[in-house]
Amino acid sequence: MNRKSTITKEQIRRWLRETDWRRLDTLFGRADRVRRDHVGDEVHLRGLVEISSHCQRDCLYCGLRRQNRILSRYRLSAEQILACARRAVHYGYGTVVLQSGEDSGIRREWLTEVIRQLKRQTHLAVTLSLGERDRADLAAWRHAGADRYLLRFETANAHLYNRIHPPRRPGLPDRFDLLRTLRQLGYEVGSGVMVGIPGQTIDDLADDIEWFGRLDLDMIGLGPFLAHPHTPLGQEYAEASDRPADPRQVANSELMTYKAIALVRLVCPDANIPSTTALASLNPQNGREEGLRCGANVIMPNLTPLAYRRQYEIYPAKACLQEEPGRFDQQLKQRIAALGRRVGVGPGAAPHYLERRKAEVPS
Ligand code: SAH
Repeated sequence: MNRKSTITKEQIRRWLRETDWRRLDTLFGRADRVRRDHVGDEVHLRGLVEISSHCQRDCLYCGLRRQNRILSRYRLSAEQILACARRAVHYGYGTVVLQSGEDSGIRREWLTEVIRQLKRQTHLAVTLSLGERDRADLAAWRHAGADRYLLRFETANAHLYNRIHPPRRPGLPDRFDLLRTLRQLGYEVGSGVMVGIPGQTIDDLADDIEWFGRLDLDMIGLGPFLAHPHTPLGQEYAEASDRPADPRQVANSELMTYKAIALVRLVCPDANIPSTTALASLNPQNGREEGLRCGANVIMPNLTPLAYRRQYEIYPAKACLQEEPGRFDQQLKQRIAALGRRVGVGPGAAPHYLERRKAEVPS
C-alpha cells in the first residue's frame, strides 16, 4: 500500500461489495475530503488527441484490435497534431495527451520531432499513451521533452490478463516491467485498469487497487469495461447476459466505478485521477461530475478532429463523438465552477512526482 494510505485491503473488499447508498455516501465524502486535502480544488484539463487508430495487437476487448477489419484506420500528420495542441493552448489547458493503438507506423524519429515541435511552440506538458514500446523509443521521446506516459496494466490477475491479451513473445518485458522502465527514465507514470472485465472478481479489483499504492503511481485511470460487438470479449459478454451473473463478478457499472475511484483516492491520496470518458459514456448527463465528486481531479477533453473520432472506436457509443471542442470546453468550465471547483492552471503534475524529482536532482 501507499505510505499515506488510510485503508486496509479487507476494508477495500467490503466497500466494493457495499450496496447501501447511505453508507456509500460516507465513502464518497471521505474520498472527496482526501482529494481536497491532498491535491486541492483544481480540476486539471488534459487535451486528448487520438493520433492513430492503427494497431498491431489483438486485445480481446478493444475495438482497435488488428482483426477488426470493419474499422477504417487513420494516422494524424505532424501538422494536424500541432494544430490540436494549439487548440489546447487556446482553451488554457496545461497538457496534451497523445494516444494511439500500438502502431509501429509511429516511428521513433518522427514522433521525436513532433514532441520537439510541441515543446518549442507551446508550454504544454506532453503525455504519451501509445502502448508497449521499446525502451529506446521511450528514452528518445523522454529526451525530446515528453513528460508523462500512461500505460494501464488492465488487471493484476496474470491469468485474466493472459486470457484477454494476445500471447506475447517470450522474453519481452511485461507492462509492470515497462512501468518500472518509464519511472527510471524520469517520466511521470500513469496506469490503470478496466472495471468489470468479464471474469474479474471483487478480490481481483481489490488487488488492483492495492497494486496502485504499491507502484506509487502519479496518475491512475479507471473506467468501466464497455462491450464492443466486434471483439471476442464483447461477444462473450453479450452471450452471457441471459445467464445468471456470477456473484463474485465485478459489475461494469457506474456505481462500481465510483466506488473504485473513491478507494483509489484513499490508497493514493496524491495521485492525479481522471474522471474518464468511459464513465461519461455510461452516464452522459453527469458521469464526469459524479467522478469528480468522489475522488477524481482530472478531465481529458477530446481534441481529436471530429472527422476522425468515430474511427477511434475503442468501445461503442463513446461520450465524445459529437462534442465540438469549443462548446464542450465552455460547458465543462461552467460545470466545474458549479461544483465549487476551479480549473487548474499550468501542467498540474502530481505533488509526489515533484517531491521525487526534487529528491533526485541535487540543488
Ligand atoms: N494502445 C494504448 C492505448 C489504448 S486505449 C495502450 O495499449 O495503452 C486506452 C485504454 O482504453 C486501454 O488501456 C483500456 O484500458 C481502455 N479500453 C480499451 N477497450 C476498452 C473497452 N472495450 N471498454 C473500456 N475500456 C477500454
